[in-house]
Amino acid sequence: MHIGFIGLGNMGGPMAHNLLKAGHQLYGFDLSATALATLSAAGGQEATSPAAIAKADVDLIITMLPAAAHVREVYLGDDGLLAHARSGVLLIDSSTIDPMTARQVAAAAANNGNPMIDAPVSGGTQGAAAGTLTFMVGGSEADFLQAQPILAVMGKNIVHCGGSGNGQVAKVANNMLLGISMIGVAEAMSLGVALGMDAKVLAGVINSSSGRCWSSEVYNPYPGVVENSPASRGYRGGFGTDLMLKDLGLASEAAKQVRQPVILGALAQQLYQAFSIQGQGALDFSAIIKLYRQEE
Ligand code: NAD
Repeated sequence: MHIGFIGLGNMGGPMAHNLLKAGHQLYGFDLSATALATLSAAGGQEATSPAAIAKADVDLIITMLPAAAHVREVYLGDDGLLAHARSGVLLIDSSTIDPMTARQVAAAAANNGNPMIDAPVSGGTQGAAAGTLTFMVGGSEADFLQAQPILAVMGKNIVHCGGSGNGQVAKVANNMLLGISMIGVAEAMSLGVALGMDAKVLAGVINSSSGRCWSSEVYNPYPGVVENSPASRGYRGGFGTDLMLKDLGLASEAAKQVRQPVILGALAQQLYQAFSIQGQGALDFSAIIKLYRQEE
């Protein structure tokens, strides 16, 4: 297929690479010259703007941009995708943004004759490189089915979450829970150790008892409990505190729009915020345990 790809950063770069490896023709654009050079070194073609991609002979266009403002600019800008895209070209936005913006942009695309799905991902940069991402898809059944074979090149689990925006809904709900559960595990582990228990033994008990969750079992924030976890390598790599903060901001913003209380989500957001302004925003989000441990 002929695919346009906009946003070739930490996630988009390796996703585009997997499409090229699978034999697709790629026409890519990014504001960064380095990202573009990496694309052409891998066999892709460089475009000069979103408009150039929209005007090219592409079957579908994927975007992987930092936040909602960039998505609005690339799709709705005067010289953006919708101003130039041929009717019928499928649009896939994999950026993590708020569900309301996703729905507004998809409605504008529909007015233009372009089917559009929101397809945010989880799995991080490792999942992007390995082609094992989870895609949470919002859009019609027909558009989901059309996108599925392409998403399957970049991911392992492709889940249809319902109508437009519901991919983003699934993403913000899951990541809000993850942010909260990590703080819960950090608090419980710190309490147990402060009261004299060995961290590994405590984690073993939790993981075979009712407190067990992904944050305690796979990604325990206490150093040395899980080999190869960010906690066991100085909280480097993984999912940055500032990225978690972005997702918690999206959750609380979306909650406000439907007047849904997210009490623990808001508290979690404030704790990561407090941690981030201590200069720790680049560390993996499990480093939040440092707020609890005196020796850190
Ligand atoms: P990134 O900053 O590494 O990449 C974004 C790219 O978009 C950059 O290369 C930037 O130059 C480009 N860009 C920005 N504005 C542009 C424009 N107007 N036109 C063209 N290109 C433009 O970010 P990332 O880590 O790749 O994340 C992308 C999205 O994926 C974000 O929404 C993020 O929340 C989400 N996400 C990231 C991770 C992760 O672990 N990094 C995991 C899941 C989801």
